[in-house]
Amino acid sequence: MAFAEYIWLDGNRPTQELRSKTRFVSVDTEAASLADFPEWSFDGSSTGQAEGYDSDCGLIPVSFVRDPFRTSGDFLVLCEVANSDGSDHASNTRAGLRGVLAAGAAAHDAWIGFEQEYTLFADGRPLGFPADGMPAPQGPYYCSVGSDRAFGRRIAEEHAVLCEAAGLLYYGLNAEVMPGQWEFQIGYRGVADEDAGLLNACDHMWFARYILHRIAERHGVTASFANKPMPGDWNGAGMHTNFSCARTRSPGGIDAIYQAVKRLAHAHEEHIAVYGDGLAERLTGLHETCSIGEFKAGGADRGASIRIPLGVEQKSCGYFEDRRPGANADPYQVAAKLAETVFAIEPTQRMALVA
Ligand code: MN
Ligand code: MN
Ligand code: MN
Repeated sequence: MAFAEYIWLDGNRPTQELRSKTRFVSVDTEAASLADFPEWSFDGSSTGQAEGYDSDCGLIPVSFVRDPFRTSGDFLVLCEVANSDGSDHASNTRAGLRGVLAAGAAAHDAWIGFEQEYTLFADGRPLGFPADGMPAPQGPYYCSVGSDRAFGRRIAEEHAVLCEAAGLLYYGLNAEVMPGQWEFQIGYRGVADEDAGLLNACDHMWFARYILHRIAERHGVTASFANKPMPGDWNGAGMHTNFSCARTRSPGGIDAIYQAVKRLAHAHEEHIAVYGDGLAERLTGLHETCSIGEFKAGGADRGASIRIPLGVEQKSCGYFEDRRPGANADPYQVAAKLAETVFAIEPTQRMALVA
């Protein structure tokens, strides 16, 4: 027997939040499979996913990892939300990504990696901000060391250790440009035989976000994914997304990257629409961003929408970085939109809620 923490995305708008609840399951803790975790249900009227008169929503387990909080062979179980008749719930953006993969994207063997920035808050302000006034301007904080400039490292480090214990595709971390702001990366990390495909990497992003919220609870702080957590001359928080496919990774794949960039240029507005709430406050053209109404592709240009890293241009193959997604973007929607555009897939399934 083991504890299973069932995790799902709720119906909050414009940004979906995480919910979870625990149950005991009969499972061989050393040889668990998805089938060991039964379908379950919850009250959708309390999560913005149903009306009161018909409020049961289904939880369909789709991925599981070790629970790094409970120590004796327990599990975190990520679920898709279903309507009472078993069909995909409107809030189920993972189903949208499955739809794009099934419509032809799967054949391209895409890999993805996310750079998730976040900001730690206590007492209504980011860690490192004084009760009155402002800290010294940006400059010393990025990749910093020292208690006068790196604020919240205990949490960022604990997150790294627990993501590793859970078995996630966790790649690294760094202190960011604003005090109290950090980044971690999830997805492709150059390890052979690891599944950095779109579904698995996005699932791991949601596990990693969940784990971060739980660690922040322990320390009495909150982790914010707001795109512009502090107004003024402070960097926003993004979710740079690195993307490749069989063609871009093959010799001469740079041509496939240029073709992808062309398609992305045409679809700029559609992408912005699913790249997170409050994105205009972050994509201003300042603070290492391209302004929201503009599309620019470039080499090492931190002000580009799409960046083709120097090493990729030199090798003539590899991946590109989409610098537009905000920290609060839904990885499923970002991955689905990228696959749809880059592989010229016709939209098959109305993607999500999200007004
Ligand atoms: Mn980064
Ligand atoms: Mn960063
Ligand atoms: Mn980046």
